[in-house]
Amino acid sequence: MGATSVRVPNTAEHGHDLAAMANAVTDRTRLVIVCNPNNPTGTSSRKADLDRFLDTVPEDTLVVIDEAYREFVTDADVPDGLRTYGNRPNVVVLRTLSKAWGLAGLRVGYLVAQPEVAVAIRKVLTPFSTSLVAQAAALAALDAEPEVKRRCAIVISERDRVTEEIRRLYPDVPASQSNFVWLPLGDRSAAFAAGCEQRGVIVRPFQGDGVRVTIGTPAENDAFLAAAELAAKSAA
Ligand SMILES: *Cc1c(COP(=O)(O)O)cnc(C)c1O
Repeated sequence: MGATSVRVPNTAEHGHDLAAMANAVTDRTRLVIVCNPNNPTGTSSRKADLDRFLDTVPEDTLVVIDEAYREFVTDADVPDGLRTYGNRPNVVVLRTLSKAWGLAGLRVGYLVAQPEVAVAIRKVLTPFSTSLVAQAAALAALDAEPEVKRRCAIVISERDRVTEEIRRLYPDVPASQSNFVWLPLGDRSAAFAAGCEQRGVIVRPFQGDGVRVTIGTPAENDAFLAAAELAAKSAA
């Protein structure tokens, strides 16, 4: 879109470095993206740090809080962007029905912003960006909240189990508030992913950074843990 992207490295703990991000804002900065929980590391920013960040960023710079994984958050210190920051004119919150709600194949989500911001976005929105079928499915899904919560609870408990187990191999796996775990394997990422694939498990390597492992059913997670044991040896 003709914008210049400024990337700020994560902290040593693999999360957003909100202080460095605030420092990187200049009078040319129009928009800052805070992904909370973050993809692909699963880490999350806590309220005190976000409060400080939002108090530092100029009022005319939009802060987009991407909460695609909000439904998997269990840490009470990780704020709900809508409830906590919805009164701030420069905050925009993104949510999706692609993850917890299981509608990735229909591509539907939503944005919440002050009317002035929403009006500006509508002017550049692709026409018919969500289909009628997707909208009907979204409304039906939103009516099935207890079922979604039940499924999220399973994913959350499996996420915590996989994190604990995989830390026997890789102790520096960060805590995840998402539906995946992050293995900070650096240069070993590609070899580890290839080792898993040989054993029928597909994980996502990010060249030179790490590997993202999506939580599946308990049996799928067991298959991953068994594959990881062997892949770790070939990637050592
Ligand atoms: C999945 C995801 C989204 C939204 O995906 P859509 O399918 O386009 O709704 C947004 N942000 C992050 C970080 C995601 O992982």
